Amino acid sequence: MSYCVNCGVELEKACKACPLCDTPVINPREKKDEKVIPAYPEELSIPKSTKKLYICFVVSLVVLIPSLVLIILNAFIFNNPVLKYIISAFAVAWVWFLFPLLWKKPIPSVLVAFDALALMVYFYLYRFSGDDSGWVYGVAIPIVIFLWAIVNVFLLWLRKHRSKGAICIAVLGSINFMTFVSEIASSLFLKGTPQIIVSLVMTACCVSLMIFFTVMEKSKRLKAWMQRKFFL
Ligand SMILES: [Zn+2]
Repeated sequence: MSYCVNCGVELEKACKACPLCDTPVINPREKKDEKVIPAYPEELSIPKSTKKLYICFVVSLVVLIPSLVLIILNAFIFNNPVLKYIISAFAVAWVWFLFPLLWKKPIPSVLVAFDALALMVYFYLYRFSGDDSGWVYGVAIPIVIFLWAIVNVFLLWLRKHRSKGAICIAVLGSINFMTFVSEIASSLFLKGTPQIIVSLVMTACCVSLMIFFTVMEKSKRLKAWMQRKFFL
């Protein structure tokens, strides 16, 4: 039996330092090759899946309780029609950010399908709010479907290993494509004719950035310089 020279606490055989005051334990008589399993683990490790479930549970509760209180208060006191959209937006956010945590091995394309579906259900419910609900079918849902399609294409393309530069170029291309889809859909709905003015400005910006990334992919010196300057 040994004791800490500093605080006097009783020490386990395998202790390398006092668990109370962290004073190193030096026993000159201890045999060097003596392998003793420590009585307790050095670090407490919680499995990742448990951690994810725990985070999901806690955050869900944090969102759920105020939502329930608001729903009850709204039904009896406030009677504010806007509130239901806020609460359903919470539900969409739950599907987007917390639902993936429930999966041990998330399948990206399945999660994206749920995300798109949640958005479409949200817009579908929203359509009852105004007198003019055409924007849901004419603008919102087509945009979600195109976005869903492009994310799926992107996920398929990502199955092979791609460089950071190539990913940046692909993301820029997708964003640009989406500006075209959004502008055409909204102008068709609002004016009856397709319009591509904002999208062309976006194209100019995206293409110049894409050229920059392509040059960076090709030039090792520029790539090294960027890594040094911007930690890319
Ligand atoms: Zn001690």
